[in-house]
Amino acid sequence: MSERFNQPLGGNEMPRFGGPGTMMRLPAQATAEGLDACFVGVPLDIGTSNRSGTRFGPRQIRAESALLRPYNMATRAAPFDGLQVADIGDVATNPYDLEKSVAIIEAAYDAILVHGCRPLTLGGDHTLTLPVLRAMRRRHGPVGLIHVDAHADINETMFGERVAHGTPFRRAVEEELLDTGRVVQIGLRGTGYAADDFDWPRRQGFRVVQAEECWHRSLATLMAEVREQVGGGPVYLSFDIDSLDPAFAPGTGTPEIGGLTIMQGLEIVRGCRGLDLVGGDLVEVSPPYDPAGTTALVGANLLFEMLCVLPGVAER
Ligand code: MN
Ligand code: MN
Repeated sequence: MSERFNQPLGGNEMPRFGGPGTMMRLPAQATAEGLDACFVGVPLDIGTSNRSGTRFGPRQIRAESALLRPYNMATRAAPFDGLQVADIGDVATNPYDLEKSVAIIEAAYDAILVHGCRPLTLGGDHTLTLPVLRAMRRRHGPVGLIHVDAHADINETMFGERVAHGTPFRRAVEEELLDTGRVVQIGLRGTGYAADDFDWPRRQGFRVVQAEECWHRSLATLMAEVREQVGGGPVYLSFDIDSLDPAFAPGTGTPEIGGLTIMQGLEIVRGCRGLDLVGGDLVEVSPPYDPAGTTALVGANLLFEMLCVLPGVAER
């Protein structure tokens, strides 16, 4: 354990049911200055179309993250040996105004990225990924994208609104935020309005991997192909918890049956190792629909796994 880098507060120093309420009980700081990576919350749910509650996501993910230890027993990743990481708190969204919230989020991520920091976001509904990608484009140019979700989130509008949790990737294509040949969507399924729901992204050059293609198998080979496709430039990872089956992640607003397993979710995130991951988010955890805290627990673990695959992380 290095003295140079921030460390999560250990379970033998302070019981895990006590201590700071930050992600992994890491030190808190106000800005991303001096950080290689940060955890940041976006408490937002006014972009949701069905069950809300994701405004409580960041706080509950932090609460469930109290059980996380600093070393990854499966991959041997030791992120706190090589990266300076802290929890920089929440973006002060405006609960009365989605458009204003989107502008606030975009400015907050500009302020993170100016420090060369890779943000890992605790959501919040999926609307938040649009302003994050706008900030990413300003810093990195169009990025590759690994989007894990039950839904394609490429609606033209929802209730006539162009910005909502089901539209971010349509807007991202229109605004040229994405390098569309380096985009993969994994886990899409459920009922739709028309075949075009999943064919529109294919026409943009995305690879679309529907959930049925993932059933009953390891995703390690898929991820080798994904790395081949999306590598060669900066990549963003956007993980909607509803990509997982509601048996594993019931606490979300728009659940769809026949989803990915937790093990497949781990394979996807671990399969991102070696990419130039410039940031990631874990969105759509809705604590009011998560009575046992399992969805937030899965979310907290997947965010730790994202940290473990960032460039510069040592494996010991
Ligand atoms: Mn989504
Ligand atoms: Mn979804």
